Amino acid sequence: MPNPVFASLPTSIFQHMTVLAQKHEAINLGQGFPDQDGPLSLREVAAKQLLDGPNQYPPSKGMAVLRQAVSAHAAQFYGLTYDPEDEVVITSGGTEAITGALMAMAGVGDEVVMIEPTYDSYRPMAEAAGAVVKAVKLAAPGWRLTEEALRAAITQKTRAILINSPHNPAGRAFSREELEALARAVSGTDIVVVCDEVYEHLVYDGAAHIPLATLPGLRGRCLKIGSAGKIFSLTGWKVGWVCGPRELVSVVTKAHQFITFTTSPALQAGVAYGLMHEMDYPLQLARRLQTNRDILAARLTKLGFDVQPCEGTYFLTAGISKLTNEKDFAFCERLIREAGVALIPLSAFFKSGTPDTFVRFAFCKQQALIEQSLERLEKYFKK
Ligand code: GLN
Repeated sequence: MPNPVFASLPTSIFQHMTVLAQKHEAINLGQGFPDQDGPLSLREVAAKQLLDGPNQYPPSKGMAVLRQAVSAHAAQFYGLTYDPEDEVVITSGGTEAITGALMAMAGVGDEVVMIEPTYDSYRPMAEAAGAVVKAVKLAAPGWRLTEEALRAAITQKTRAILINSPHNPAGRAFSREELEALARAVSGTDIVVVCDEVYEHLVYDGAAHIPLATLPGLRGRCLKIGSAGKIFSLTGWKVGWVCGPRELVSVVTKAHQFITFTTSPALQAGVAYGLMHEMDYPLQLARRLQTNRDILAARLTKLGFDVQPCEGTYFLTAGISKLTNEKDFAFCERLIREAGVALIPLSAFFKSGTPDTFVRFAFCKQQALIEQSLERLEKYFKK
């Protein structure tokens, strides 16, 4: 008998909508990937390393040059210090980092608290490890996190909380007050917080990303996850990392050594170069994406979408109740076929399948493509 956790899963919603978008030649604002590759210099460094080698297994915990660069990045941006020797582990992308952190922190019968809407990989990987997922459901309008909801989900069995900020798909960057509420909810427990912060440099309106680990007393229980794919618009590279106290990182490193063991040396070298020399790139990207967000928000609102606040990430969410009686999934499939624009139904990120009246727009695209997709939607809804 195959493992029911995976056997019962549908194909990922991103894959489903992307395949449909390709079939109907729709503009893909569904799956979140940039339509322009990040800096040439990183790719040149990686290409050179690929040609010159070495091309054999790097150390399982990651190449020293990249661990040092990740450590320096955390110090430079947040004043967080992680020893590159044993407080940083390089993974094959943020997704592997999350899996490794979950497997390292929770096993059979343990509980893991997750924020709903929940990014699609989280729940199955915790469940595959034998853990039980307790959801803290955010609600529109606003998708705000409360201490009350967190406390209601935490029990004696809670081993870990997985928090994603800036949050995919909600587009929230949790405020200091919300993070403080989380800090209060875990104080006095030994709960570890897995912090998926892959969108750390995509925070808008002049706000700064707040890593949970920077709150007083929190560093020691936080596993902080980052992703080069998101920082440098190279999502196919699959280079990520976990930083945290050595007692926790050592266990994540053991999980990692048997999930992928290591990740491509050429790409690690490219990312190390980027973290040292190209940190202007994500700052400029954030400016461009903020413009896209604003254009999208204004014109979608005019069309009747109930646009929710978006403070970070590649994603904007909007309610569709004024536009249709359909559920979000049917609405998205219709838009692909009839309007030529692909989105993601938000119900895919809720265990119960509700709410089912919201969609997610990925705006990590060139402005012209965002405008073209809006023209298609405007034409379609005027009919
Ligand atoms: N992170 C991407 C998104 O949210 C999807 C990546 C994937 O397809 N697995 O759109």
